[in-house]
Amino acid sequence: MFEGFTPPQTPLLAVDRAALTRNLKTMQDLCDSHGVRLRSHGKTHKCSTLGRLQQAGGAVGLCAQTVGEAEAFVKGGVTDVLVTAPPPPWGAVRLAALARTARVGSVADSAEQIERLGAAARAAGVTLDLVVDIDPGTHRTGCHPDDAVALARLAASTEGLNYMGVQAYAGHLQHIVGLEERRVADHAVCAQLAAMVAALTNANLAPEVVTGGGTGTHSFALASGLFNELQAGSYAVMDVEYADCAAPGGGSWPFQASLFVAASVVSANHKSHVTVDAGFKAMSMDGPPARVASGAAAGSLWRPMGDEHGMIIHPDGLALLRGGNFVEAVEKADRDASVPWPADAPKAGGLVWLQPGHCDPTINLYDALHVVAEDGSFERWAVDARRVS
Ligand code: PLP
Ligand code: MN
Repeated sequence: MFEGFTPPQTPLLAVDRAALTRNLKTMQDLCDSHGVRLRSHGKTHKCSTLGRLQQAGGAVGLCAQTVGEAEAFVKGGVTDVLVTAPPPPWGAVRLAALARTARVGSVADSAEQIERLGAAARAAGVTLDLVVDIDPGTHRTGCHPDDAVALARLAASTEGLNYMGVQAYAGHLQHIVGLEERRVADHAVCAQLAAMVAALTNANLAPEVVTGGGTGTHSFALASGLFNELQAGSYAVMDVEYADCAAPGGGSWPFQASLFVAASVVSANHKSHVTVDAGFKAMSMDGPPARVASGAAAGSLWRPMGDEHGMIIHPDGLALLRGGNFVEAVEKADRDASVPWPADAPKAGGLVWLQPGHCDPTINLYDALHVVAEDGSFERWAVDARRVS
């Protein structure tokens, strides 16, 4: 993996450029063949260079989850951004200002938000796209489906706003592990959404855009005949959490892992494990633990053991450490002459490559993606939308 590439420092975020390029093309082709626009979610990578690449490949633009992300993407050259969560009160004026230099849209799930966005747009002399956010059962954002027509009517009649349609993002379905369970749940969401689109159409508010769908439901959204814009983001880099879920299209995922953290072995003085320089601060811990991709014996596990450190447990070390007290188990194994030193454990100074458990919050821990070509050369792409609100 990453042959010919020597990380200038560790822990470091590396992207396999060939795998990334394939992932981007695969999703764009899937969208094109279904007549669906791709508006990939930029919160995954927070990188305007990658966003520009997605747009150059055919995506209409990017989704942003925050006002600051939208600003960073526009600054970095992305020309069309939709903020996919209702912005906080201070955000309306900033989005209106941003609309002077790019096509900018926002979702809203209340009359107050729609009025605030309209007022900000009028004051700035711009037009903001407005998408009514509908809650498909995630209960994070979105209006109750019964309120969609009234909000759409308000958006359509508010000067300064361009009523575009509806968003229904079913975040609670994305990581349902089993394919059938996810498919059935998504089907129910789509049935409810179809009824709402019909109600909007009857009310002379037919949505031009029906936007939503993530990596975990992309095949359902594309086949639904309902969504005409897809918001998937993680597909570009993938992570352990998605790798452990069934692909929505059946069979294996059409997207490969392209994102890895390079870690250095900084201490190798125990039989059970070695210590690397990737701990809590190198890897988001909200998802499953990062998985060892290469640089250690098959079956080795990474586990965090401090802010800046993690351990790579040798497969034989698992039994040694199981149960009981970690410190005592390590010392007992080291003292016991009948327990061999594993010959295939990583050596001090070696590199171990880890696949993050959850891509988005892990990328947010780094300043840059090191995008590595097949010949080992690399480019440094700033994660320029991090640390902005
Ligand atoms: N759309 C919205 C509103 C989201 O919040 C997310 C991610 O949580 C996505 C799209 C992209 O989903 P994924 O990264 O699973 O493809
Ligand atoms: Mn995610």
